[in-house]
Amino acid sequence: MKKIYQKTDKLFMPQAGEVQAKDFLKFYFDFVCENQLYDEDLWALLVKQFTYPSDDVDNGWRGEFWGKLMRGASFVYTATGDERLYDILTHTVNDLLKTQDSSGRICTYSREKEFTAWDMWCRKYVLLGLEYFYDICKSGKLKEEIVSALEKHAGYIVDHVGNGDGKININKTSKEWYGLNSSSILEPMVRLYVITGNRKFLDFADYIVSEGGMTEDNIFERAYQKNGYPYEYPATKAYEMMSCFEGLLEYSRVTGNKKWEQAVINFADMISETEITVIGSAGCTHELFDHSAVRQLEENESGIMQETCVTVTWLKLCSQLLRLTGDIKYAELMERTVYNALTGCVNTELRHENMGMIFDSYSPLINQSRGRGMGGMRILELFNLFGCCTAIAAAGIGLMGLYPIMKSRDSIVINSYISAAAEFEINGAKAKISMDTKYPADNIVYIKIEYGNNLMKIRIPQYSESTVLLLNGRNIECTAGEYAEVNVKSGDRIILILDFEIRVIIPSRFGAHGNSINRFALASGPLILAKDSRVCEEINKATDIVQKYKKKDNLKVPCITAFECDDDNDSILIDYSSAGKTWNKDSKLSVWFER
Ligand SMILES: [Zn+2]
Repeated sequence: MKKIYQKTDKLFMPQAGEVQAKDFLKFYFDFVCENQLYDEDLWALLVKQFTYPSDDVDNGWRGEFWGKLMRGASFVYTATGDERLYDILTHTVNDLLKTQDSSGRICTYSREKEFTAWDMWCRKYVLLGLEYFYDICKSGKLKEEIVSALEKHAGYIVDHVGNGDGKININKTSKEWYGLNSSSILEPMVRLYVITGNRKFLDFADYIVSEGGMTEDNIFERAYQKNGYPYEYPATKAYEMMSCFEGLLEYSRVTGNKKWEQAVINFADMISETEITVIGSAGCTHELFDHSAVRQLEENESGIMQETCVTVTWLKLCSQLLRLTGDIKYAELMERTVYNALTGCVNTELRHENMGMIFDSYSPLINQSRGRGMGGMRILELFNLFGCCTAIAAAGIGLMGLYPIMKSRDSIVINSYISAAAEFEINGAKAKISMDTKYPADNIVYIKIEYGNNLMKIRIPQYSESTVLLLNGRNIECTAGEYAEVNVKSGDRIILILDFEIRVIIPSRFGAHGNSINRFALASGPLILAKDSRVCEEINKATDIVQKYKKKDNLKVPCITAFECDDDNDSILIDYSSAGKTWNKDSKLSVWFER
């Protein structure tokens, strides 16, 4: 895989061990490992689903859980280099390989029911889980076994799905969402071609792209033509649709097809423009694209909105585009998602009330509590419930550590600020930096160049209207929304002071669904601020003239940041990601306020 990326990409994520995170990030890595990824019983239970047709009973998606969690675990391993985690993953990969049947299927549907409902989707996740583990696998023997299993598993699909006699059309292998879910198998098919060099998998990818992503339309062409917005497509399931475009991006990389690369860029631009909300997720009607840029301003009775699978898949799509294009706009988008929607779904305050679920599935915005329900819930055995969002969130946590410090061909690129040491090889020479900061709780970042003479690019966030960037005490010019380019040498010290004054966010678009209420949100740095009924009475009202406020310490609610405002409501504002964490009516939250 890596050779392809060397040719196509502008930015590169760290390999295992290159970045060592501390403090804020380490808390999230430890949290997901201790509560989920180290759980060998959980891995065994997820493998067990493949030992019999466990999804036949309700046309379910139990077969997605293992691969989805494995992909996330592989990201977390890359971000941490945690050998205990690696050993656990090796063990469960070996277990999964044993479930392959004589025809090559690693499958949760019987022969009688195969290629219906979510079968293809589940097979996709088997491929993805094994492929992402393959990327971190250190054993040549195990890699060979994985490739052999993948070829048989995918070979069975290629033999039964396609254009030939007796084959089923890819988009007819599911009656859901006009086949969007099935077409998303594009990504692992392309990756398998790269791993094996076996042309038949690329031919199959050609075929999927030619079928257009769904039975009722060709969404790849529509995105290329910018013909309507994604919420106007025949099926609008947000997570599945973005997964198809992740596949199209991988396809464009491998084939060098610029048309499809442009289609993915167009698609992400349209999502950013019409869907992405103030907290960096999307889909305010259940799990669907629905012009959320506008819908987010309406109170949602059910609170089932902004699925965590959507949050993480958006983050993944942006991370791919950041790598491919090096365009700073994707780093901006990722940061908004990471510090608001993603960290908001991590259930740091209680777990027993939701059967041990450590991640929440939906992210409310106005006058709602968290913990509205478990997305994609399935019973695996007795009291063991698992859900789609619970399975995907680890991938988001892993990416939190993989995008802040990257490298280009000639520089270290800082996309966000974390306490970490990073060591890269650039142009054959070693370069090492250490970064210290309490970001996003605090606005000061210290970067020390340990060794190496390098160009360094430092992202100056769009929100930071007045920024101070000092190299060895000397001011360096910089512009919000751009990378500052700094030539550095061993021993240099950089101090970055960002603008964390509270700012007012006015929604930019009021479309056909826009209501008459003039709502606004408040933010400090990358953190969107919320009111939480644990510390505020009037959570829906605030003042948009925020001039007098001060930091509030020792609030009874655990949070990253808190402010006490001198306004009519004596508002207490805390970061959205910490609001609502008790999952009940005592901690209702709002981020869109009325005057
Ligand atoms: Zn989900």
